[in-house]
Formats: sequence, structure tokens, C-alpha cells
Amino acid sequence: MAGEAQDDCLFCKIVQGHVPATIVRETDTTIAFRDINPQAPTHVLVVPKAHYPNAATLAAADPSVIADVLCETKVVADEDKLESYRVVFNTGAGVGQTVFHVHAHVLGGRGMQWPPG
Ligand code: 5GP
Ligand code: ZN
Repeated sequence: MAGEAQDDCLFCKIVQGHVPATIVRETDTTIAFRDINPQAPTHVLVVPKAHYPNAATLAAADPSVIADVLCETKVVADEDKLESYRVVFNTGAGVGQTVFHVHAHVLGGRGMQWPPG
């Protein structure tokens, strides 16, 4: 069924508490935890508890939960006192998505270039 936990999904395992992570926030529908390989002083991943492979599939299936994810990105940024930050949803292996459970990267605490690499 859509949204069900997948046995082979790392972020489902983190949601279920089967793989440890440094969790910074949890709501009814989301969790946020620090990236294991941070690319900026703040690098937090906000993920829905339900399993969807990317942002577009979640938005189509359950728009309120993608809204929850976006709201949580701001809370994470506020808690780390970030005035500027970047929110990234990698979508597809061709742009670097490696975990196919939708997640928003919240990156901040250093200057960044635009366009991104
Ligand atoms: P993607 O490349 O799919 O957009 O992002 C996946 C992110 O998950 C990467 O930034 C990677 O460092 C992070 N990651 C991979 N394995 C783990 C893990 O076991 N724990 C945590 N906290 N982050 C992970
Ligand atoms: Zn998953």
C-alpha cells in the first residue's frame, strides 16, 4: 500500500528506530535528523514517516504531509538560528539521490554558490 514502510529502506529503519540517528525534531508525520555526512554546519534531513520515493510522489498522494515536511524545514532552520538556508529535494539518481525515501535537505551556516553544482 502507498506510504507503507519498506524493509529495504534506510530512512524507514530510522523512522522505526531500527537504525540510530541524531534526531532533532519529531511530529506526528515527520522526523528530522542530522545528516551522517554533513555538507554544511547545519545539514538536517526532514523526512515523512510514510515511505514515498520522492517529493513529487508524496505531493500527489498526500499533499498535507509534504506541507508538513516544508513547515518542519523552517522550524529546523529557526532552531539552528539560520537567517538563510537552502532546502533541497534531490529527485532521481542523475542528480544525486541515493536514498529513495523522500527527504528535504536543510543546509545552512555557510555561504553557498548559485547555480548549484
Ligand atoms: P540524497 O543523496 O538521497 O539526496 O541524500 C541522502 C543523504 O542521506 C545523504 O546526504 C547521506 O549523507 C545521508 N545518509 C546516508 N546514510 C545515512 C545514515 O545512515 N544516517 C544519516 N543520518 N544520514 C545518512
Ligand atoms: Zn522508506
